[in-house]
Amino acid sequence: MRVQDYERFIGAEAVDRILGKAQKLSDKHIVNVSSTYYGGGVASKLSSLTLLMNEAGLKTGWRIIQGNPDFFNVTKGIHNMLQGATGQLDDKQKRLFEQVNFENAKRKHLQHHDIVVIHDPQPLSLIEHYEHRVPWVWRCHIDLTSPNPHVWQYLRKFIDRYDAVVVSIPQYAQSIHPPQFFHLPATDPFSLINQELSDAEIDEALEEYNIPTDLPIVTQVSRFDKWKDPQGVIDAWRMTRKKVDCTLVLLGSAATDDPEGEAVYQSLLDQQDERLLIINREDSILVNAVQRKAAVVIQKSIREGFGLTVTEAMWKGAPVIGGNVGGIRYQIEDGVNGFLVSNVEETAERMQELLQDEDKRRQMGVEARETVKRKFLMTRLMEQYLDLFASFDICVKVREDRTLEKAMLE
Ligand code: UDP
Repeated sequence: MRVQDYERFIGAEAVDRILGKAQKLSDKHIVNVSSTYYGGGVASKLSSLTLLMNEAGLKTGWRIIQGNPDFFNVTKGIHNMLQGATGQLDDKQKRLFEQVNFENAKRKHLQHHDIVVIHDPQPLSLIEHYEHRVPWVWRCHIDLTSPNPHVWQYLRKFIDRYDAVVVSIPQYAQSIHPPQFFHLPATDPFSLINQELSDAEIDEALEEYNIPTDLPIVTQVSRFDKWKDPQGVIDAWRMTRKKVDCTLVLLGSAATDDPEGEAVYQSLLDQQDERLLIINREDSILVNAVQRKAAVVIQKSIREGFGLTVTEAMWKGAPVIGGNVGGIRYQIEDGVNGFLVSNVEETAERMQELLQDEDKRRQMGVEARETVKRKFLMTRLMEQYLDLFASFDICVKVREDRTLEKAMLE
């Protein structure tokens, strides 16, 4: 997809402005490093953003770090602790984290790029193994409302080496040396997850997984992760069902960098029946179809860096009930384009309210789509990156001018 394809959503002027900014950076070679190609918001964003940037002329790469299961256990622990879990990393875990980063640094050859963008904590300490010649950005996608101080203290020594840190919202700002920027994530309307589907295509996708459509569908689409509170969704659904019958679909897939997903999925399976489907499958069309078919979409997270699944459902005109946390608050305006909730009871009440009121569902869905169109399309995010990258050029220019000035005075 190209920036030009967004014209019908953002207008010709915005398209020209973004392409103009991209043109100025077209000699740059940029590399992104993350820990998985699929399963989760970082991969979703990078797959669209890197294509869009390349189409606009910036040579933008995307590398994945390799690690064994022990490494990803340690990094999932770091992820959990950054989201506020208690605990500490022991010396062995720190050594493993640093050793795997060292090995990846050896084989990634990042030194030949003009800007390096590191995503999330897994590849954070790569920076230690390169001469600091070009700007390095750490893009942390995690909910940093209250990071565990032990793990934060440990990671600081790496974070402070970066030239800039980008987090999703101002509430995640920390006391660190690099300047901090706030980029709300965004979605790609042309991706498999978002592209338009006909009614027949939607029904076909649901049929393939034996999802019944005789009752209204309520769904949560998410990695199986305790922070997404799948059990809370089931409990709320059980309460709602006493008043309005409906089918619940919990759909998730396992990301290679999330070793806890399988256990969370297994822990829910006992509760499955013909009205409660728990599906663990990587299938973008199914995500798309379920979000489109659902009467109500839930994202009952108790921590959420941003919550792209909320954006994706809102783009499809679904009314979303979201946990009143992190990035979800920036997407849902309570009572206008969806509902924000803080516990199981509230979730059940809102679910019932929406299931019983088709007009409200439709009205909220229209507002929801409009919100995404105004604020959360990929072109907006791309422009923020372009502005950030251009600001590095200005810094380099100022530095060069000062050096020249100094040389001339000597
Ligand atoms: N996703 C998917 N299949 C699934 C569940 C999720 O493709 O079964 C995608 C989802 O559509 C979204 C991303 O994974 O694009 C999840 O991003 P989000 O920000 O909601 O959460 P994260 O997993 O990054 O915590």
